[in-house]
Amino acid sequence: SSSPATITTTLFPGDGIGPEIAESVKQIFKASEVPIEWEEHYVGDQIDPRTQSFLTWESLESVRRNRVGLKGPMATPIGKGHRSLNLTLRKELNLYANVRPCYSLPGYKTRYDDVNLITIRENTEGEYSGLEHQVVRGVVESLKIITRHASLRVAEYAFHYAKAHGRERVSAIHKANIMQKTDGLFLKSCREVAEKYPEIVYEEVVIDNCCMMLVKNPALFDVLVMPNLYGDIISDLCAGLVGGLGLTPSCNIGEGGIALAEAVHGSAPDIAGKNLANPTALLLSSVTMLRHLELHEKADQIQNAILKTIAEGKYRTADLGGSASTTDFTKAICDHL
Ligand code: NAD
Repeated sequence: SSSPATITTTLFPGDGIGPEIAESVKQIFKASEVPIEWEEHYVGDQIDPRTQSFLTWESLESVRRNRVGLKGPMATPIGKGHRSLNLTLRKELNLYANVRPCYSLPGYKTRYDDVNLITIRENTEGEYSGLEHQVVRGVVESLKIITRHASLRVAEYAFHYAKAHGRERVSAIHKANIMQKTDGLFLKSCREVAEKYPEIVYEEVVIDNCCMMLVKNPALFDVLVMPNLYGDIISDLCAGLVGGLGLTPSCNIGEGGIALAEAVHGSAPDIAGKNLANPTALLLSSVTMLRHLELHEKADQIQNAILKTIAEGKYRTADLGGSASTTDFTKAICDHL
């Protein structure tokens, strides 16, 4: 049924508001005649022994085969004996860098009008290695793992990204004054890569000072690269600067050119199934996916329609102070295409 020019990509609608906002993406892609065919995969209701999680082996194979996909939020089921869905995806697909662009949306007023930041988060190790245990009763230990391999890899990606996108500065965010060995190795790796990119300004900023500077004047930064936990926190801080989690996209980059785009937010169980969710974050994630596929014309068309709809202010979802439903907002975007 698909014409030869059609690209097959994997879609995980996900949990909670996931299916509602994924529906919005599908409708807008259809209206814009994007030459993409979705291969939809839902999270299973049983643990797949091949992945040790609710994610099926077939769905992982789908991303491996298509190399590009879009993922809605996934709620982590509670209980023992399985791996978290997001962790499974990260590990199995080797998604080593999480890229989170964050920019002010014209017409939607926040404290700053000129936010234009890219957070690049190391996605595989650090404090999120899952190595925690009890030493004795009342004392627990968590291992923070930093490797030269993963640090060089994410630093390389950050500089490559900066150069490819005409960015001027890369800031490595750290706490090496206290975490001398771990963050020290992270910085050393960043410095090594920086030497290969003399045209890009490189600086090192301590995480606490970075938070203060971001809140005071986000224009001080351009591309930020950092270990896992700092990236998790700083990217939410950046989302807050431009209007919240309903707006900010991200893309996971894996070895061998895999790109799995996803919103930064979770499954929002408090508003799931109520037609209230803001699909912008997932939509802008789908736009980064289109750019990855070099479908720039479609990416621009959809991005402009989203920005116009938000700027116009007639149809906004509740998180942006409006009263439009997910479907009203989606229809308004289709009308602007
Ligand atoms: P959350 O991001 O789901 O929700 C936080 C708040 O933001 C809620 O009030 C929610 O209503 C609001 N919100 C989030 N996205 C929104 C949107 N698109 N439009 C309007 N409002 C939105 O965070 P949480 O409540 O801490 O987590 C809920 C579940 O999601 C948990 O099971 C968690 O593990 C999971 N989670 C998954 C991912 C992922 O798949 N990448 C990321 C974070 C959390």
